[in-house]
Amino acid sequence: MSLTETREPLLKGQRALVTGASSGIGAAIAKALAAAGAKVVVNYAGGAQRAQTVVAQIQANGGEAMAICADVSREEDVEAMFVQMFAAWDSIDILVNNAGLQKDAPLVEMSLADWRQVIDINLTGQFLCSRAAAREFLHRGIAPELSRATGKIICMSSVHDVIPWAGHANYAASKGGVSLLMKTLAQELAPQRIRVNAISPGAIKTPINAAAWSTPAAEADLLKLIPYRRVGEPDDIAQAAVWLASDASDYVTGATLYVDGGMTLYPGFDQGG
Ligand code: NAD
Repeated sequence: MSLTETREPLLKGQRALVTGASSGIGAAIAKALAAAGAKVVVNYAGGAQRAQTVVAQIQANGGEAMAICADVSREEDVEAMFVQMFAAWDSIDILVNNAGLQKDAPLVEMSLADWRQVIDINLTGQFLCSRAAAREFLHRGIAPELSRATGKIICMSSVHDVIPWAGHANYAASKGGVSLLMKTLAQELAPQRIRVNAISPGAIKTPINAAAWSTPAAEADLLKLIPYRRVGEPDDIAQAAVWLASDASDYVTGATLYVDGGMTLYPGFDQGG
């Protein structure tokens, strides 16, 4: 039966872990994966109440979810989170490395602590979670009744893995690092049928960038950078994540999907050079 003929939810019976899922893009991905039939771990590092709200929203929609607290930059937290997930659901099929933050400053004012925190969470966190998930995928092997792939890893990058960003050296470096981490893992793990891909969002309305869209003047400025002339919503990213997690994208690995309304199309050149 082809994918277009089946009526089964795309991710039926699969187990997913979404880091930083108590707000913004991560919350939208957790809800969309659950709506597609997956059980979802809603990881959070602080603010248990917000994580529980996401879990409750998934359950109210007939889905299955649980919240697990872990700082993705801490090895012992990450290992304990996977142990807790496996104790409840035996294994993992889909990892979404979404947790991230910004600590912006001009280079000459950027502290080493802020540099390190952003690299530790945005980049090292993706390494730690990918390693834990890959170990389990390799240990368990393929489960053909669930998916054609042994496992799927989705890395949240940013248009700033290709667009330099003055005043955000730590963030841009972390996302540039995510891009080659993703491609290297994809190359290394493809023979074991583990697919690793990235999503690079443009400007999406979430708490991380509220200053850039929350007033009409700021939003008008932002829209100059977006050929499609609308600021993105978390669900724009969530739908891309469902596709990358599903067998509909089974031949896709090592790819970066830019979901950005054209932000990477050099909008400054739209009237010619
Ligand atoms: P957000 O601030 O709502 O989400 C980030 C989440 O990560 C939060 O829930 C936060 O609590 C969590 N987090 C931070 N540190 C953590 C840690 N140590 N351990 C676990 N969780 C931690 O913002 P968002 O926009 O939803 O960001 C999600 C991802 O999307 C980030 O990786 C971000 O870089 C990326 N992104 C966002 C945009 C955008 O325009 N919003 C654009 C490009 C990329």
